[in-house]
Amino acid sequence: MNLRPHHALCIQKFTGHGYDRAFTDHMTKLCETLRNQPETPVRIISGCDELCAFCPNRENGSCSTLEKVDSMDIAVRSAAGLSPGGTLPWRELAGLARTNIFETDQFEKICSDCQWFALCRSTPLN
Ligand code: SF4
Ligand code: SF4
Repeated sequence: MNLRPHHALCIQKFTGHGYDRAFTDHMTKLCETLRNQPETPVRIISGCDELCAFCPNRENGSCSTLEKVDSMDIAVRSAAGLSPGGTLPWRELAGLARTNIFETDQFEKICSDCQWFALCRSTPLN
């Protein structure tokens, strides 16, 4: 599965809210897959990924808020020590995000400009 780095955070905070029905249905299935199969290999990519595929903000193969999401991806990669193009099991990626971001002040630094931040901050990790 291809994921852009900041989606390692969003997946762990997902509670069924999203941009539209198609997006949330797809994300619900994706989160269930990763929860049930934590050894799923995840490749760290730049640009649109498995979650973006069903997002209404995806336009011509790119995110309409590209600058914002790119800067989050760079910050997550740096904080969690992820290599672009590298592959690791979901269990390991989720753990790196937890240890280096959710359990530190990086969570607020990276996510505070996101429209979902208030919800994510009050949501326990999945
Ligand atoms: S605040 Fe936004 S970017 Fe951060 S985990 Fe939540 S949905 Fe993802
Ligand atoms: S297209 Fe943009 S807003 Fe939609 S899931 Fe991808 S990064 Fe997030």
